[in-house]
Amino acid sequence: ERAANPSVFNGVGALSDGFSVPLLANIGNAKDAKKAAAANAEGVGLFRTEFLFLDRADEPPVDEQEKQYAEVFAEFPGKKVVIRTLDAGADKPLPFVTDDTEPNPALGVRGYRTSWRSPEVLTNQLTAIARAADASEADVWVMAPMIATAAESADFAQQCTEAGIKRPGIMIEIPAAALTADKLLTDATFASIGTNDLTQYTMAADRQLGSLAELNDPWQPGLLALVKASVDGATTAGEQLAGGATTSDDEHHGDPIRPVGVCGEAAGDPALAVVLVGLGVSTLSMTPRSLANVAEILASVSREDARRIARIALDAPSAADAKAGVRAEIPLLE
Ligand code: PEP
Ligand code: MG
Repeated sequence: ERAANPSVFNGVGALSDGFSVPLLANIGNAKDAKKAAAANAEGVGLFRTEFLFLDRADEPPVDEQEKQYAEVFAEFPGKKVVIRTLDAGADKPLPFVTDDTEPNPALGVRGYRTSWRSPEVLTNQLTAIARAADASEADVWVMAPMIATAAESADFAQQCTEAGIKRPGIMIEIPAAALTADKLLTDATFASIGTNDLTQYTMAADRQLGSLAELNDPWQPGLLALVKASVDGATTAGEQLAGGATTSDDEHHGDPIRPVGVCGEAAGDPALAVVLVGLGVSTLSMTPRSLANVAEILASVSREDARRIARIALDAPSAADAKAGVRAEIPLLE
């Protein structure tokens, strides 16, 4: 086992052959953003906006939202900040949009679905984000949580466009979204895989139940297959948008047409990070304290290594076999 905190992240995520893998931070407020910037995160891959409003009985006014978002954007001038619209419900209820009488909140009106009942809450939030983004120097991307269908993705992208937001995207947290990523990424311009929820829904195992931890493991072969399906779908969407031309993913890299990142806890596991990159994931977003560890392990493998290692994980019969097989191939983790 390696020391938990080998060093400080130098701010440039890359494989041993120089292939760039931007390492981003998951944050919930301006204080987190400051910490992430101090930890040299290359940007923000997940700004969980609902964390700002968990204790609120009423919808926060647009002006107040704009100010809170602006404070975060200000920490990352010239850098990417992926902000997520309210992910209310289940483990994160917000009184002004969630219905606490639902029998199965994790399968209920949560995430993007709350906008069916309260469309103005999403419209107001997009207005606040667009205003804060316009006034900032950050490269602001906006994504919706819990997207299940192409119609929802198209709808969200349209609402973003109407609000003046240039980079609408979706989270892939539902197996159906992973399996139809080619269709979802026609309108949405990027995807971020939320492995916490994607694992929960793939394994039908409540993420909050410790007794199900063995099932609730992102190393499960079923979860890895869905990550691959998401990346493959995004590649297909990109090729179709490029007019059927087959461009190699090296040409896409740096300015990929439909990039897929990961922002669930899985991205902060160094061995799993190698697998995700080998599957074609282009950015990883994690808690800032994982950045140095993940960067160190990524820098020890080439792109070819990562692809070969990803294959080992995909072909393993169990999560435990995948983990053991992958660690045996990464000298620093052996
Ligand atoms: C996820 O589901 O993996 C995710 C990043 O979102 P959250 O943990 O906030 O549900
Ligand atoms: Mg989630």
